[in-house]
Amino acid sequence: MKLTRIKGFSDVPPGEIELWQRIEQRAVQVFAAYNFKEIRVPILEKSELFSRSLGESTDVIEKEMYTFADRDAKATLLSLRPEGTAGVVRAYVEGKLHQVEPVRKLYYLGPMFRRERPQKGRLRQFHQIGAEVFGRTDPFVDAELLLMLRDLWEELGVSGTVLEVNSIGCVECRPGYRAALVAFLEGRRGELCADCDRRLETNPLRVLDCKRESCAGIVAAAPSILSHLCAECRQHFDSVLELLKDMRPEPVVNHRLVRGLDYYCRTTFEWKAGTGLGSQNTVAAGGRYDGLVQSLGGPPVAGVGFALGVERLALLLSEGGASEPAAALLYLAWMGEEAQRWTFALAQRLRRRGVRVDLDGETRSLKSQMRRADKLGARAVLIVGPDEMTKGRAVLRHMATREQIEVDFANVDDSLAEPFGPASA
Ligand code: ATP
Ligand code: MG
Repeated sequence: MKLTRIKGFSDVPPGEIELWQRIEQRAVQVFAAYNFKEIRVPILEKSELFSRSLGESTDVIEKEMYTFADRDAKATLLSLRPEGTAGVVRAYVEGKLHQVEPVRKLYYLGPMFRRERPQKGRLRQFHQIGAEVFGRTDPFVDAELLLMLRDLWEELGVSGTVLEVNSIGCVECRPGYRAALVAFLEGRRGELCADCDRRLETNPLRVLDCKRESCAGIVAAAPSILSHLCAECRQHFDSVLELLKDMRPEPVVNHRLVRGLDYYCRTTFEWKAGTGLGSQNTVAAGGRYDGLVQSLGGPPVAGVGFALGVERLALLLSEGGASEPAAALLYLAWMGEEAQRWTFALAQRLRRRGVRVDLDGETRSLKSQMRRADKLGARAVLIVGPDEMTKGRAVLRHMATREQIEVDFANVDDSLAEPFGPASA
């Protein structure tokens, strides 16, 4: 039997991983500038955590989670995490992080699992980089998160994304909107898809982001949440927009951008790619969830955050032609046992100075070592045979120019570490 990957699960081989590494490194850098700290939480959690935080009547809970019974006596239900926020909130509550420091800025990165239909930009194991801020209700922090993402796009050279923002009000003003929306949708009931017909009972706000064209057409005429916001929510939203007014392109207000769960409130946003991702064009999404920490057993602490999809970001960057300059490789070609021992030791010394070095372990002709160096993309080859050992001088050949120079053994380490060290990449 041939062993193959599970459908919707991907490998990221060398050649592709470099872009991922760059995305992760830049995210870590940019997030650090905003004083975020990393948190790592388990990939496996009790299923209950997700049903309580995401809500029973969401697609993720109803049909997308990988859930199984553990081998304990109670056959506890466990799930592979479908998203990152729930685990981070659980860790925050369980670790009593609010007692240590009232305001917490945390980020995470890693794999998430949802049993969706695999397609371009949609996998069953995918990766997110996310950030959460606990303990702040002010609009400045909502804006800060969005500006942080803008900085990351800039660092990475992502262009053509558009930020869509909305406010979905709070427990005070949303019920009034929900009633108005339900009244409107009741009137068009016969035209809604089967899912939305059900959502109308369980989670009417979800109808607003149904991906079906027929539903989108109906929803276009639906009442807007923005005309139902209470004074505080209106002010909060206006402040967020004001703080983002210098962003280019300007953020677009989309009153249909909603979250269906009660603990979500006020700011919601999605960062969409202009072209290149087809219909899976949301690169990052997030919003405010002031009631979540409390609903998972913690203190009444506000929260706001986002998650970005690494696969989609990588697709966007690779389709934009972003390629990584390979770090310089120095290849050591040797002939004879004495030269082998000498180059083996030299390789260790150079590697400790950050130079990327490789060499053969078996006796091969110089020609075949040169061919191998070429295949590996070496920038230069240091050639050492019995003659060089006697003279105390090696030959350094630059692959691109074919230029050869002699390097004295006496200062061989320095003369190679400088041009080929980490700074040269
Ligand atoms: P979508 O609109 O694609 O269904 P979503 O609303 O389910 O996204 P979130 O749960 O908000 O997505 O996750 C945030 C981000 O994670 C998305 O914007 C996307 O970039 C990425 N993402 C979500 N699901 C997948 C998936 N199955 N495969 C790859 N990336 C995904
Ligand atoms: Mg989805």
